[in-house]
Amino acid sequence: MSEKGIKVINEKCVGCGVCVKACPFGAITLANKIAVIDLNTCTLCGACREACSFDAIEIFKPQIVRTDVSGYQGVWVFIEEESEKIAGVSFELLNKARQLASDLDTEVVGVYLGHTLKDKIPELFYKGADKVIFVDHPKLGHYIAENYANVISHLIQKYKPEIVLAGATTTGRSLVSRIAIRIYAGLTADCTGLDIDKDKHLLIQTRPAFGGNIMAQIITPNHRPQMATVRHKVMPECELDTNRTGKLIQEKVEEDLFDSRIRFIDFLKEEAYKVNLAEADIIVSGGRGLQKPENFEMIKALADSLGAAIGASRAAVDAGWMPYSHQVGQTGRTVSPKIYIACGISGQIQHLVGMQSAKVIVAINKDPQAPIFKVANYGIVGDIFKVIPLLTKALSNQAKTSTQCI
Ligand SMILES: Cc1cc2nc3c(=O)[nH]c(=O)nc-3n(C[C@H](O)[C@H](O)[C@H](O)COP(=O)(O)OP(=O)(O)OC[C@H]3O[C@@H](n4cnc5c(N)ncnc54)[C@H](O)[C@@H]3O)c2cc1C
Repeated sequence: MSEKGIKVINEKCVGCGVCVKACPFGAITLANKIAVIDLNTCTLCGACREACSFDAIEIFKPQIVRTDVSGYQGVWVFIEEESEKIAGVSFELLNKARQLASDLDTEVVGVYLGHTLKDKIPELFYKGADKVIFVDHPKLGHYIAENYANVISHLIQKYKPEIVLAGATTTGRSLVSRIAIRIYAGLTADCTGLDIDKDKHLLIQTRPAFGGNIMAQIITPNHRPQMATVRHKVMPECELDTNRTGKLIQEKVEEDLFDSRIRFIDFLKEEAYKVNLAEADIIVSGGRGLQKPENFEMIKALADSLGAAIGASRAAVDAGWMPYSHQVGQTGRTVSPKIYIACGISGQIQHLVGMQSAKVIVAINKDPQAPIFKVANYGIVGDIFKVIPLLTKALSNQAKTSTQCI
């Protein structure tokens, strides 16, 4: 059967309504004591069929086309460039790849595309790669998703890696989704954990689901490679070992892999994005409690006194008070600073998943029951409009005193 669908077997349905309650998507109603399924809303999740004691619901799905998964070897990491440097997330992934490769008894391969970047390759060996596949071409000098996806898909078909990892960055997300389509492989986006099921030799990909309320574990048993994107700063980099070396494979690619419709013209960096949140050691974040955009000046003053970057909750970003690049959380950036100061932020789960790995969390909120206090190491129950200026003044005075001492 190639079509997918769902149907109620009218002769068996007794109109008990159990399926109506079981459907998480509200896709089932009763009409004349028979269940009726809205095919536009139904996701074929199967909850109704499981709940039905009368076998009155039938679901049909197309047969899964399985790839021959044998012969795939190696853990690949896409090496990303950011501001003419190798992005931190690539080093974090190389470290994770070492652990996965050791469990699978295979090797770690960095896949590096670009133009005249060769001097950066030793660093990849120092930080975990056993091999680097390097493609040097003028048309790869700037990231163009189609060109990169075509080249990497070609390399995957040639070398058959078992696992392919990339950062869940703007680049990684746009790249790996394209590769997944081209090579007909699965992709788990935004993972926060990766492990190996040693008995089955499968990658276990952990990621938050349903708004961060559950951690889903996803496996890819039928297709290769197993592909995942991982957020920045959720995994540590490995120690630099300048004695490590590896094998460099320089690949040449055919011109027809490059998309002729797309031309690189210029790269314009977002003006407001002056501090790289993901790299910041201290972040001061503001939320809806600030009430209006002008009040972010108060956050800026506190951040300046600490040499900190500025973050924001989605509520503050949605209100237009701060640009999206400052948003921390599930749909914003994941950060892991030494100190995170949350000001007027309630601490909903979608915010917490982006900052709870900070070493020290300080929360300022007038509501003692605010969930942010459950993750905070230090909590100040008070009005931000009083607390923040006092804090800023104290920190600025301290800075002056310590400068005088020097
Ligand atoms: C799919 C999805 C993805 C999401 N992604 C994100 C995300 O990436 N990042 C994110 O942040 N949110 C995200 N959200 C939204 C999230 O659920 C919350 O709505 C949001 O985090 C709330 O922002 P807030 O804490 O600033 O506002 P609120 O929840 O309104 O909290 C404001 C807080 O300020 C306090 N306050 C008010 N006045 C003062 C004062 N004078 N002094 C001290 N405290 C005061 C209040 O007590 C309150 O706790 C997402 C939601 C969904 C559904």
